[in-house]
Amino acid sequence: DNGSIRIISGFRCQYNNALGPTKGGLRFQEDVHMEEVAELAFLMTLKNSLAGLPYGGGKGGLQVNPKELSEAEHERMTRRFTQEIAHFIGEDIDIPAPDVNTNGEIMLTMLDEYEKVIGKKSPATFTGKPVEHGGSVGRNQSTSRGGFLVLQEHMKDSAQNNMTVAVQGFGNVGSHLARMLYEAGYKVVAVSDSQTGIYNPEGLSIPELMEWKAERKSFAEWLEDPKSSQSSEGASKVTNEDLLELDVDILVPAALGSVITEKNAANIKAHTILEMANAPVTLEADELLQKNNVTIIPDILANAGGVIVSYFEWVQNKKNEHWSEEKVDDELTKIIVPAYHGVRDEAEKSKVTLRTASYIRAVQRVLEAEEKRLA
Ligand code: NAD
Repeated sequence: DNGSIRIISGFRCQYNNALGPTKGGLRFQEDVHMEEVAELAFLMTLKNSLAGLPYGGGKGGLQVNPKELSEAEHERMTRRFTQEIAHFIGEDIDIPAPDVNTNGEIMLTMLDEYEKVIGKKSPATFTGKPVEHGGSVGRNQSTSRGGFLVLQEHMKDSAQNNMTVAVQGFGNVGSHLARMLYEAGYKVVAVSDSQTGIYNPEGLSIPELMEWKAERKSFAEWLEDPKSSQSSEGASKVTNEDLLELDVDILVPAALGSVITEKNAANIKAHTILEMANAPVTLEADELLQKNNVTIIPDILANAGGVIVSYFEWVQNKKNEHWSEEKVDDELTKIIVPAYHGVRDEAEKSKVTLRTASYIRAVQRVLEAEEKRLA
C-alpha cells in the first residue's frame, strides 16, 4: 500500500499424477517451506488414491503471514501468485483448494485471475469455492461426515451404548464431528479450543457449545459464564494436554499435528483414536500405542471426506450440475464406507495396523497406474 515492493516466495508441488491431475490445498503461512509442501503433497497422493479418486497429489504454499497485510495487499499478492502458477495448474492438470489461512473467497479471487490469464471459463480448476459461486453443498461438514461414517462402520462389531469421546479442537472439523457423535448417542465428555478444554464426565451439550462458539467466544469464557446452562454443571477446565489422556473410549485429535508423541503415548487411555487432524500421532507414539492395543483409524482414511466432496465439486463444475446435500451425502457414503472395508480387509489379511493397510492399498493403486503408464 505504501508503494514499496515485497517479494514473497511461494511453492506448488505436484508430487505424483499417475492417477490423474494433482490435487491438494494451498496454505498462506510464514514458515511454510518446500519440504513441508512436498511431504503434504505425498500424503495427498496417498489420500486421493485410497479414496479411489481420479487424482494424484499436490500441495502449495506462500511464505507469508496474511495478518500483516491489508485487504488490498492480500488480494494483489493472491492475484500475483495465481499469475505465476497459472501455466502449470488447470482443471485437468493440478487443482488447488483451501488449506491453512486460505478459504473459499480466496479460491474465487484465484479463479478470477486464472480465467483472465487463460482467457476462458474454468471453474473446476479450484475447489472449496463458496456454494453460490460453484462450490458444493455439504463441503463444510464433509471432513467430519467422512470421519463419522468411518467410525460408525468401525464400531459396528463392537458397539456399546454411551461410548465416551474426547475431541481436541472445536473448529470446522472438530465441532461438526462432535455434533454428529452427540446426535448418534455417543457421550462427548470433552472438547477444546486453542486456549482450554472443558470436561464433563456426564457429557456435554454439543449444540449449546456450537451456539457459544458461533458468537466467537472461548471455552474459558464459557466456564466462567454463570448462564452456561445444563452442561456446565459438573464441567471443569482441562488442558489440551490432559484432554488427550482422559479415560474415554474414543479420542479424536482434530486440531494440530504431532500432539501424541513418545512423551504422552503411554498415558493414552482411549482404545480407539480417530485421526481427524493430519498426522496427529508421531511415528514413535504410533509404535507405543500399537503395543498397548490402541486402534488408530489413520488420517488418510478418517479425514478423506473433505477431498472426496472437493472431487464432487469438480465433477459438478465440469458437468454443470448442482447436487443436493442428500446426494452429496449418499455419494460420500458410497466412497468412504467401501474404502474403510478395503483397509480393514487388508489389515486382517496382511496382519498389519489400519495405518499400514491404508498405505498398502494407496501405494498399490498408484503403482498399478504407473505400471500402465510405463507399459
Ligand atoms: P479450524 O481452524 O477450523 O479449527 C482448528 C481448531 O483447533 C480450533 O478449535 C482451534 O481453536 C484449535 N486449536 C488451535 N490451536 C490449538 C492448540 N494449540 N491446541 C488445541 N487446539 C488448538 O481447522 P479445521 O478445518 O477444523 O482443521 C482441523 C484439523 O483437521 C487440521 O489439522 C487440518 O489440517 C485437518 N483437516 C481439515 C480438513 C478440512 O476439510 N477442514 C480436511 C482434512 C484435514
